[in-house]
Amino acid sequence: MHYTPAPRDPKADPIRINLLSDTQTRPTQAMREAMALAEVGDEQIGDDPTVNLLCERVADLLGKEAAVFMPSGTMCNVAATLAHCRPGDEILAHETFRAALHPRSRYQPPQTVVSVEQTANIGGGTIWKKKALDEVVAIAKAHGLITHTDGARLLNACVATKISARDMAAGWDSAWIDFSKGLGAPVGGVIAGSRAFIDDVWRWKQRLGGSMRQAGICAAACVYALDHHVDRLADDHANARALARGLSQINGVEVQEPETNLVFFRPDGAGVAGDKMVEALRKRGVLLAMMDGRIRACTHLDVSADMIEETVGIVREIVRGA
Ligand SMILES: *Cc1c(COP(=O)(O)O)cnc(C)c1O
Repeated sequence: MHYTPAPRDPKADPIRINLLSDTQTRPTQAMREAMALAEVGDEQIGDDPTVNLLCERVADLLGKEAAVFMPSGTMCNVAATLAHCRPGDEILAHETFRAALHPRSRYQPPQTVVSVEQTANIGGGTIWKKKALDEVVAIAKAHGLITHTDGARLLNACVATKISARDMAAGWDSAWIDFSKGLGAPVGGVIAGSRAFIDDVWRWKQRLGGSMRQAGICAAACVYALDHHVDRLADDHANARALARGLSQINGVEVQEPETNLVFFRPDGAGVAGDKMVEALRKRGVLLAMMDGRIRACTHLDVSADMIEETVGIVREIVRGA
């Protein structure tokens, strides 16, 4: 997305602490075993039992009629956009939603969809409050707009707030969750909505080349993640808070208080530019990157509390040496 880590030679330059993204999680041994044992069929014709189970689980989790397994979150967004909109339509993903609304006219693109990212990545992994989501839905419905949730990290928001995914997605016409982020699966996203919408998404999935065959191997990792990797997102949030606390105790380092698993900080006030800090950390085996002018650190399944402590110590040493 908005980060561009430099290419690296993993042998010459080993990464010990990987805070780059929750996409960096590796499937655990137990997840790999679940994958190896998966019952499979032909996904494209609806014949893969593990994919079907995953779709039923996610539809139920999000309180929707149906769901479809996609190769990626990106394809969830693309297929949803194609299903919801026509070329030339406008999608609102604006902070000031009400102000962006305009009446239908021949001079402006028709506003068709309002989309919210839960959690908001560039916002700092921040959580849309349930009350704000309900307001957005109410305004959208009053204006005849379709509502869509990019829920790449929706379950982070649910675990942090103890609001169920079903409640969080209530009123949203479509919502998807990513399995290749903090949930730790190697690939996949699942999008849910009404039966008619999912029917359309299926057609787009086919046209985009996203239909798969024995995808149950991958879906098994996702089912495993639903059973074992949701509640533990709280550990990632605790690690993010510990990182923020440690960093904020270093003079001149400016830290945004994390709500979930993303920690944005600026070391400039301590006399080290962000990109120099990223470079110095990388030499010490800690991988993270600049995003939107700040450094973003992401906690996940493969990041321990000890690693957080070590990272804070290394940042302190870099600042001291500056
Ligand atoms: C990662 C991400 C995506 C894209 O998902 P992929 O599975 O990487 O294709 C979309 N939206 C948000 C908010 C994300 O974090």
